[in-house]
Amino acid sequence: MIIGVPKEIKNNENRVALTPAGVAEFKKSGHDVYVQATAGLGSGITDAEYVHAGATILPTIEDVYEIAEMIVKVKEPIASEYALIKPNQLLFTYFHFASSQELTHAMLESGAICLAYETVEKTDRSLPLLVPMSEVAGRMAVQEGAKYLEKPMGGRGILLGGVAGVKPANVLVLGGGIVGTQSAKMAAGLGANVTIVDISLPRLRYLEDIMPANVDTVISNEYNIRQLVQTTDLIIGGVLIPGAKAPSLITRDMLSLMRPGTVMVDVAIDQGGCFETSHATTHENPTFVVEGIVHYCVANMPGAVPYTSTLALTNATLPYAIQLANKGWKKACRENEELKKGLNVVQGKTVYKGVADAWELPL
Ligand code: NAD
Repeated sequence: MIIGVPKEIKNNENRVALTPAGVAEFKKSGHDVYVQATAGLGSGITDAEYVHAGATILPTIEDVYEIAEMIVKVKEPIASEYALIKPNQLLFTYFHFASSQELTHAMLESGAICLAYETVEKTDRSLPLLVPMSEVAGRMAVQEGAKYLEKPMGGRGILLGGVAGVKPANVLVLGGGIVGTQSAKMAAGLGANVTIVDISLPRLRYLEDIMPANVDTVISNEYNIRQLVQTTDLIIGGVLIPGAKAPSLITRDMLSLMRPGTVMVDVAIDQGGCFETSHATTHENPTFVVEGIVHYCVANMPGAVPYTSTLALTNATLPYAIQLANKGWKKACRENEELKKGLNVVQGKTVYKGVADAWELPL
């Protein structure tokens, strides 16, 4: 199969969908890979490295879409790419169709096959192509939190780990899923006192088993959270209710209970946020202050670390992309239920319930 890797053109997107290691894997299976010039630069990968792995570099995005049978990307196509997509071309990327009617209609009209990273689903209902980005965001949340706790950044001026003779900071992690687990591990590793709250008792039991001694678990309810925020220095919000807006676990009136300079990182901001006072921010202007409390609410946190994010994402996507190339999308989806769940739009028809429901389209 002929694989095409265009350069991401969405604002501030520095990731790339395939690494030289991925190119080598495709070549080993007998496929040809065409990469747009400078596609990897934002993630620190040069054209020469792709060529060394066996890819051919093409000068323009038009060239890549023209030649490829399968396009592998990171973000959904933007308006300037719509006309480049050809009928029966396979697109394997993040789409998030339920958040854009325009994109849904454009892809229906293109006649392409759209296999969305975010809906590839394992039998245990986990989403293997979303997990790596939650891992990155969870770990980054502690880094960012530590930074904004510094006095010149607006924070309380407390070091997460303390030093000999001085107590460490208290970190509260809301939600003990992928984001929360990674945040708790990082904060605990730096020496902070960490508390994870979750509504799932089995999840808390598991976390209690695997976490180090400086991590406590507490069941999630308003009373407990209200108590905890009064002595917390850094709050990380990583709750998720699948398919719904995140619940507002930190209400505006709780801010007055906190110490000034407390930092709150709302990782769940891409689902509306789990603090009442959150609104989405960007890497250019990541924080704002409400009642003396620093809010960090960047909706695409992994975008700040494209090197790590590219490798983490491609580690997860490549095995699926290879199956698609080896077998063709029909056979690959017939033989692998996980991949089949990724099909959203096929040759002018919506085939994913969430997308059909979102825009009242036939299934
Ligand atoms: P997850 O499903 O692995 O974990 C969510 C956890 O929240 C679960 O353990 C669940 O039991 C818990 N939860 C649900 N309701 C709760 C409540 N009322 N109180 C306490 N806990 C509750 O999800 P995840 O992969 O960790 O993702 C968390 C959020 O982070 C999602 O909204 C995701 O979209 C977001 N995210 C954001 C970025 C970013 O750049 N901002 C990047 C990746 C993920």
